[in-house]
Amino acid sequence: MKFAVTSKGDAKSNALMHKIRAYLLDFKLTYDENKPDIVISVGGDGTLLYAFHRYIERLDKTAFVGVHTGHLGFYADWVPDEIEKLVIAIARTPYQIIEYPLLEAIIRYQHGGKETRYLALNESTVKAVDGTLVMDVEIRGDQFERFRGDGLCISTPSGSTAYNKALGGAILHPSIRALQLAEMASINNRVFRTVGSPLILPAHHTCMLKPVNRSDFLVTIDHLTLLHKDVKSIQYRVANEKIRFARFRPFPFWKRVHDSFVSS
Ligand code: NAD
Repeated sequence: MKFAVTSKGDAKSNALMHKIRAYLLDFKLTYDENKPDIVISVGGDGTLLYAFHRYIERLDKTAFVGVHTGHLGFYADWVPDEIEKLVIAIARTPYQIIEYPLLEAIIRYQHGGKETRYLALNESTVKAVDGTLVMDVEIRGDQFERFRGDGLCISTPSGSTAYNKALGGAILHPSIRALQLAEMASINNRVFRTVGSPLILPAHHTCMLKPVNRSDFLVTIDHLTLLHKDVKSIQYRVANEKIRFARFRPFPFWKRVHDSFVSS
């Protein structure tokens, strides 16, 4: 089996990365940074997001596992003290794989037939470059509302505990194939109206955002922020691809939610 280890880049994570690599090489596993079967991410949730995007072309072949060197993460749930246990478990393949849904974003432009496609593990957000974001929101081809406000956040179930949660969105179990649309400070008065509640869309429903007055936007895909000019539409739906996590012990999602947000 081929493995790779990614690190957050700080001294603690780097030291742990070297230790894991040495242990796995001792177990006669092959280090392959380009085509790994398993990626061990050492750092935090951000490090796993980074690893996900680094290996995005191999999602059907690569599984991920996260070790945290700071506080308990949603994707990084192994602690440095458990490294020996984790290494033995990895070496004793096969391991269980669990698959979680991803978000697909397709950005189309006003000129030409060019489009850009992204996959997000947590979410995509859309904000105006300056001033208020004004977007028509279509759901399944029908006009739903004209949004005015700071921005919109479209998240996956596993991203529902991240930015989405800070916006008052619901926490969704990642076994549910859905996307969630949450508002950022919508303008609501006698003239302007939005639904005001987060919406959860099933996998076969598409959410399309269409610019009204401006065409340049800041679009985030997980930790990446990109400026898109001359945007005609941004289409979101549940992706066909999935992320695969290597599971070596039970760690129920609701326990993770409890330990992160209620008490540890
Ligand atoms: P960062 O270093 O600012 O991390 C943000 C925090 O989000 C970290 O504590 C991380 O552990 C946590 N996090 C990431 N994914 C999570 C998940 N699925 N569930 C629960 N917590 C999660 O930024 P980064 O490391 O580059 O991560 C980018 C992410 O930050 C984005 O995907 C977005 O979800 C999140 N974010 C949150 C807010 C907010 O809560 N107001 C604002 C911007 C971005």
